[in-house]
Amino acid sequence: MNHFLEEIAKHLYSAYGDKLKDCCVVFPNRRAGLFFNKYLSELTEKPVWAPEYFTISDLMVELSELEPADELLTLFELYKVYCEEKNIQESFDEFYFWGEIMLADFDNIDKYLVNATKLFQNITDLRNIEDQFSYLSEEQIKIIKRFWQNFEPGWSGQHKDKFLETWKVLNNIYSRLRDILAEHNIGYEGMIYRDVADKLVNGEKINLPFLKIFFIGFNALNECENALFKYLSTRNLAEFFWDYDEYYLVNKNHEAGRFIRRNIDEFGATEINLSFSSLTTRKEIRVVSVPSMVGQAKILPELLSNMEDISHETAIVMADEHLLVPVLHSLPESADDFNVTMGYPVDKTPVYALIEHIIDLQNNSRRQNDQKWRFYYRDVLAILNHPFIHQDYETEIDQLIDDITERNKIYLTGEELNINTFLGSIFTRIDEPKNIPAYLLHILEKLARDNINQEHSYKALENEIIFQLYVRIKRLKEIIDNSSIQFLTRTLFRLLRKTLMHTRIPFSGEPLIGLQIMGVLETRGLDFKNLIMLSMNEDIFPGSPVSHSFIPHHLRFGFGLPTIEHQDAIYAYYFYRLIQRAERIILVYNSKTEGLSTGEKSRFIHQLLFDPAFSVNEKIIAYNIQANPEKPVWLSQDKISMDILNTYISENIKNKYLSPSALNVYIDCRLRFYFRYIARLEEPDEVAEEVNQLLFGNMLHAAINRLYEPLMEGEITSVSLRELLNNKVRINSAIHHAFNQEYQSVADKGKAEIEGRNLIVREILKQYLIQIINTDINYTPFRIIDLEGTYRMDISVKKEDKLLRVSIGGKIDRIDNVGNEIRIIDYKTGRVDRKISDIDSLFDRDLSDRNHAVFQTLLYSKLFYSSEKQQDKMIVPGLYAIRELTSNDFDYHILFGAQRNKEILSDYQHLDIQFTKKLIGIVEEMYNKDIGFFPTRITEKCEYCPYREICHR
Ligand code: SF4
Repeated sequence: MNHFLEEIAKHLYSAYGDKLKDCCVVFPNRRAGLFFNKYLSELTEKPVWAPEYFTISDLMVELSELEPADELLTLFELYKVYCEEKNIQESFDEFYFWGEIMLADFDNIDKYLVNATKLFQNITDLRNIEDQFSYLSEEQIKIIKRFWQNFEPGWSGQHKDKFLETWKVLNNIYSRLRDILAEHNIGYEGMIYRDVADKLVNGEKINLPFLKIFFIGFNALNECENALFKYLSTRNLAEFFWDYDEYYLVNKNHEAGRFIRRNIDEFGATEINLSFSSLTTRKEIRVVSVPSMVGQAKILPELLSNMEDISHETAIVMADEHLLVPVLHSLPESADDFNVTMGYPVDKTPVYALIEHIIDLQNNSRRQNDQKWRFYYRDVLAILNHPFIHQDYETEIDQLIDDITERNKIYLTGEELNINTFLGSIFTRIDEPKNIPAYLLHILEKLARDNINQEHSYKALENEIIFQLYVRIKRLKEIIDNSSIQFLTRTLFRLLRKTLMHTRIPFSGEPLIGLQIMGVLETRGLDFKNLIMLSMNEDIFPGSPVSHSFIPHHLRFGFGLPTIEHQDAIYAYYFYRLIQRAERIILVYNSKTEGLSTGEKSRFIHQLLFDPAFSVNEKIIAYNIQANPEKPVWLSQDKISMDILNTYISENIKNKYLSPSALNVYIDCRLRFYFRYIARLEEPDEVAEEVNQLLFGNMLHAAINRLYEPLMEGEITSVSLRELLNNKVRINSAIHHAFNQEYQSVADKGKAEIEGRNLIVREILKQYLIQIINTDINYTPFRIIDLEGTYRMDISVKKEDKLLRVSIGGKIDRIDNVGNEIRIIDYKTGRVDRKISDIDSLFDRDLSDRNHAVFQTLLYSKLFYSSEKQQDKMIVPGLYAIRELTSNDFDYHILFGAQRNKEILSDYQHLDIQFTKKLIGIVEEMYNKDIGFFPTRITEKCEYCPYREICHR
């Protein structure tokens, strides 16, 4: 296969030989220079001086006296001029977006040598147009006239006024900005280009210390480039080498040849020994559709496996550069040498992720009533769990995370997080936006210091990333420190993100060996035998036509500024030029409609499919969605499980007990019991930002206990409860106590802020408390025996030929004495069914609606009965279903018996023998070494099971 650059290298070497050292070669991009140099070096065995290589923008800088201005600095200057010209005090934040658009427009105006004064005038007298724009073509004048006749179709009067208001100051803004920058001897890119073009037009001398300048691989030229090319061409100082194919060159309607045709007309055709007619020669073209963005990268091993040798003759070209990371992760082992042209995106690295967390930390911080700034727990946890932070202070950080989680801390002060100097410096609120860069630099310095002494090779890479971020933030700091502009914090973060997000870490290695991975722009001038192009979707290749500009489309067209059609023609050229000499081409597109992707193949694929000059093979790749059914887990008893179960045996020093919840889980599903109580796979504890049902239940228990504790000493009468009802201070303080208990750390006790939806929760809690007291008035007088007391007992179970004494226990919400009854009360905040048919139903694991609440209350009754043996009083289990307290027929009793014949369970003691027998049976089963842990037969129970994923049910 012949390469365009290789043939030019041969041509120039034979024509100029050693004199090449006095010449200069200009490419559209740097990559082409590398390849050209390689081809040149292969032509001779003796060392020769290479010519000087430039990109076109480097050459323009070389020819101009202006230095490139920093974009941010330019934006600041533009902002000042804008505020003065419009006579408004708009914040930089509001201006930022428009400022970037304005700068892009000014850049265009300069590169296309548009007369800004004429462009930005309000032409009310249409008769003037022809006189003023006599240098434009008739069509252009017609379009400009049409625009000023009606403005853009669809603009209302208000929009027109707004447009004119900005339009009339744009020329002043443009010329003043240029003057200010020129005073400092700097300019944005377009300004530098125009400076060179103006010099040429004015006949000024430019410094060109070269024998000849060769321009290689150019396509669309702006007017400044055109002026330079003409100047050099007429003086016989330049030679031009266009890359094209006859196929789209001779067809005047083919957009890929639009600019090349003009270039050849003006500067002549390429005169080298290379065929320019290879596009329609025999080549293998495949179109592959993949129903996923990342899936395109995942099929690379398969696509590459069909290529004979993966060398620098093979390129993966990404139309969407976001695919770089998935592509790097998908490369097969056979691609051991590869070269990435575009650099690794910093925003995909853990260091950048940490910076993002820190930005969120500052953005989401808030000042509360005590005037202290607090940080949102999600941002705090993200930073604490970040590997760079966590690895150095593991134990302290884990303790801190546990405290935040256990105490449900939603907003945290800097003091609470200041467990060491470094964390103290991170968890500091930065009030003054200008101090943010220094704050980040300090954190990066510390990370680099920690990394520097570590020997792993990836630490060197991490340090390189830290260094790149450091350099950019430092530059931002310098610019901000020297500007008088006031920023909002969010603007500064926007600037910061913009500065950092496009940073790339260059890959090191030999760039011309192995598989080449690159973006579309880097392919200019290069040829590859094997090509895999990814993201060949409409809206990506060519890119979406949405472009922001202050200059309406009609005027852009009228004044010869680039339009969408211009952009499309450039993409068409990139595509056809790239495939013209390739022998094997695979075009991959994402067929799934997701986000902004329409799932449509690029128009260039359609063109190939419908053009008889090409033979295209189309393949659709679908996912294999037939999942292998995985078998549910079955586990048998072993020494480990038995050792853990033995911790519930009463003589064991660990002295643990089986709770009603553990027994309920065991009855429901033995496997779930294993996961939770043997393997101890606890569901991760999380901060509950808003009150959930569990939290609400805890708070209700805490509040009612707080209210009743002072009444425990004596008899509770209707009078004492009515007094309590009227004592709003006590009720409110009980609620605050409950919130403090669930939401605050010990350090901050008594300071819980009740806000947002929790204000509603507080009111609901208050209503429930009032309702419980009102309900209790109906049972007065009574005495409270215990609140939240822990009760335990041992039961004897058989294990083989031994008797084991297993401890069972639990915390009973409330035990009170009403007349001749001892009531065992359990508060329930959810829906409650108080009915059971018989005791057996409480132990029947095949019932999907087995009554857990009644099982629990009967077990509490059993615990109390075993500990007190209150034979002379009735033991009455009861459920206070909080939601039913307001109902006229509220009752707390358990109802027992067949469907139509239910009776109140008036004394637990009547059922004790039956209940105990079943209880022993289930615990014996638990200790039986022949019965393992296997899944429930009732799949409804799996619906909300936290172990669903791992048990493969
Ligand atoms: S998913 Fe079902 S079978 Fe598996 S542990 Fe949970 S409840 Fe048991």
